[in-house]
Amino acid sequence: MNVLIGGAWPYANGSLHLGHVAALLPGDILARYYRLKGERVLYVSGSDCNGTPISIRANQENTTVTAIADRYHTEFLQCFNELGFTYDLYTRTDASHHHKAVQNIFLKLLENGFLFKKRIEQAYCTVDNQFLPDRFVEGTCPNCRAKARGDQCDNCSTILDPLDLKDKTCKICGNEPEIRETEHYYYEFSHFQQQLENFVNEASIEGRWRENAVQLTKRYLTEGLPDRAVTRDLPNGISVPVDGFEGKKIYVWIEAVAGYYTASLEWAKQNGKDVSEWWNEEAVSYYIHGKDNIPFHTVIWPAILMGLGQEGLPTHIVSNEYLTLEKRKLSTSQNWAVWVPEILKDYDPDSIRYFLTINAPENRDADFSWREFIYSHNSELLGAFANFVNRTLKFIAKSFNHKVPQAKVNNSIKLDVENLYAKVGEHIESGEMKQAIEAIFNFIRTSNRYFDEEQPWTTVNNQIEKCEETLATCVYIIQNLAQLLHPFLPFGCKKIRQMLGTSLNGWDEVADLPTELNNVEPLYERIDVKKIEEELQKLEEASKRI
Ligand SMILES: [Zn+2]
Ligand SMILES: [Zn+2]
Repeated sequence: MNVLIGGAWPYANGSLHLGHVAALLPGDILARYYRLKGERVLYVSGSDCNGTPISIRANQENTTVTAIADRYHTEFLQCFNELGFTYDLYTRTDASHHHKAVQNIFLKLLENGFLFKKRIEQAYCTVDNQFLPDRFVEGTCPNCRAKARGDQCDNCSTILDPLDLKDKTCKICGNEPEIRETEHYYYEFSHFQQQLENFVNEASIEGRWRENAVQLTKRYLTEGLPDRAVTRDLPNGISVPVDGFEGKKIYVWIEAVAGYYTASLEWAKQNGKDVSEWWNEEAVSYYIHGKDNIPFHTVIWPAILMGLGQEGLPTHIVSNEYLTLEKRKLSTSQNWAVWVPEILKDYDPDSIRYFLTINAPENRDADFSWREFIYSHNSELLGAFANFVNRTLKFIAKSFNHKVPQAKVNNSIKLDVENLYAKVGEHIESGEMKQAIEAIFNFIRTSNRYFDEEQPWTTVNNQIEKCEETLATCVYIIQNLAQLLHPFLPFGCKKIRQMLGTSLNGWDEVADLPTELNNVEPLYERIDVKKIEEELQKLEEASKRI
């Protein structure tokens, strides 16, 4: 089976925060799981490096667009790497392969007759001397009267045309923009209305999409799809490859989603593979993103693929809800965020992965609090998982001189482990990461009880056979945990395999026990609970500095 996994493209305009990781982490869990299962995985993403916010930032800092994009792209790469993300290709939208491929897509859509020219009125700021991208026109939502951006109202989720806003202002300078005429290409979305309705209904019946994606997509389709502009008067981005459109750019929202395909093309080219193996009707594809990105993956990207006649429509949509921070909405402008480069300096990446999976915002918003984070590390990751590994292996090191007793493994536990692979695999494939890791941790708690009840520290003195059976069973559990948890906690699992001298086998029960342990070391360190107050203080202070 070929499995394409597309992680959403973070915008190279500022550092990553935990909200990004909460949305993107299911992608890496899927990639690791499917690879372990032996499927042919292609996991792609990249930095979104085009668009106006970057050029504004470059102007403010008196530097170039490329310098800003380079800075954050490099930082993203390092963060993803330290978090253990296993992208096959993590590229960027200012790469020339992406520009060329997107221009080809544009020309193909034109050739297929789905693009048409239209003269329109658009907001132009005479202070900044430029047409304003939709997001840079702000005003009052005509639907719910909340303050809204020109592309979308966050309050009522209506997709907007910036000219519909009341009391329009320019986001860059705050002045009222004027309305000027310009010519643009439009994409004929309305043509795909029926096809998209069938597409979402089928996904919904088969339960392949998150419920939030099904609901929101059905709502958009009920409202009816308007044709939308696919070019813009923008300072940077991908040039429109048509005479008479010099200086205009392909609009970011069609260009960035096309990155899943252009990155696949580039990876295939670099690795001598046939890209169509991941882009056909049989291939499975997962799209991983936060709920604010749903329509791009369930309406816009499928409609573009339909217009291209390209096979490989999204099959699975994994769209997490939001992560809040200490019960407040994350806000980069108010600096109310935990920044990934910061948290990685002091904490184990597995602790972050564990917390954001067991508390994943899968069906509703979830909260990150420093108290919960540190307690979940100390009591679950360390107290349950690492403790089970450590007490077993330490005991064998001490009482059996590192030799693993080659005794018979408890039958009922063997059965539990076999069932666990099936159950956890099903959850992961359905995008239910929280239930998957909960099932494993329930089993770990049972395993700790088993160790307590069997009392190997007593039986070692008077019932050596029983003691050996207990320890053989515990090592059997540990070597299987090192596989079952590999998609979630790759760093701890790697340490276990080093201690056992084993390697990853597949998504299947491993029965043969290792014979001798290497050096036994703790999997994780305890975190001092004093850190809770320290971190809260840091957070408050940082948000006041704005
Ligand atoms: Zn609204
Ligand atoms: Zn302005």
